[in-house]
Amino acid sequence: MSLTETCAPAQAGAQSPEGGACDSGPPPARGNSEVRTDWTRDEIAALFDLPFTDLLFRAATVHRAHHAPDEVQLCTLLSIKTGGCPEDCGYCSQSASADSGVEATKLMDVRAVLQAAAQAKDAGSQRFCMGAAWRNPKDRDMPAIVEIVQGVRAMGMETCMTLGMLTPTQAAQLKDAGLDYYNHNIDTAPENYENVITTRSFEERIDTLANVREAGINVCSGGIVGMGETRAHRVGFVHALATLPRHPESVPVNALVPVKGTPLGDMLADTPMAKIDDIEFVRTVAVARITMPRSMVRLSAGRESMSEATQALCFMAGANSIFTGDKLLTAANAGDDKDAAMMAKLGLSPMRGEEPMRACEAAE
Ligand code: SF4
Repeated sequence: MSLTETCAPAQAGAQSPEGGACDSGPPPARGNSEVRTDWTRDEIAALFDLPFTDLLFRAATVHRAHHAPDEVQLCTLLSIKTGGCPEDCGYCSQSASADSGVEATKLMDVRAVLQAAAQAKDAGSQRFCMGAAWRNPKDRDMPAIVEIVQGVRAMGMETCMTLGMLTPTQAAQLKDAGLDYYNHNIDTAPENYENVITTRSFEERIDTLANVREAGINVCSGGIVGMGETRAHRVGFVHALATLPRHPESVPVNALVPVKGTPLGDMLADTPMAKIDDIEFVRTVAVARITMPRSMVRLSAGRESMSEATQALCFMAGANSIFTGDKLLTAANAGDDKDAAMMAKLGLSPMRGEEPMRACEAAE
């Protein structure tokens, strides 16, 4: 895979992301539609360090070169198997080692999942994402998973699954079933990983992403900020994604939702200063946008407690995808009515067309 990929900007008449009056500060201009996978940590740190208004301007200009700035992709996320997970992710209420009160359930019935997908479609969702609290799917789970993917695809919706680590064989099975996306977050910077999760390694995460890519499934991968990490960790997190051989098509940026009974939730309750600052969160979104210009950058968990003004800054900084509905797995979400009102207020409309990376892929 080459270090750079180019594709015509999504919008006719799009301007140079590095042009005009906004060419001060690192990194230097490299062309208006170039997608780089050779970012250095220093370059990314320099973007984080820009004056906020400069950073926002640069991110918005990059965004407009590749995406329709007034469109936001709507996705719905359903937990199809909740709780009892053997992993120990420090932020997660579904870990068996958390004392969060989340009850473990079995994999949902296929018909119930398809019913939920139909409701999401009626509410305007373009993509139906399904999550199971597993370290990895067992082979005995795969027939039901395949049936779910086929059923949701048959409704004309895009499908995304997050099931934990995948073998190459399982990834190929999902591809054959028609799965469009696989979500597998890297969570945080490689050097911060063991402070968040001890039951698997960062390298295992990367291996599954490679298996998903190899199978030809689109990748959704991002992480969480506000877990008590440093700015340097946030630089490392964006760097890890922006230097993958091919950028993820979707990059969810979550703000930690502190859940009582989880190690990170309890830590934040004791040290409220560790909570991510809104401006620093917007900076993270903006740097993700600049370094991964064609990816969809998704505002995910934590949006429920964000003001509309902060969300508007995130959209300005290049976020263009949100989860809708009242729940995000086990956490509260903003809710359809609240989101519809916010989008109307901001003049945003649901995205209908193809994502830029997929459109480029089709054209190549
Ligand atoms: S984030 Fe996923 S893998 Fe980690 S404990 Fe929660 S359900 Fe399990």
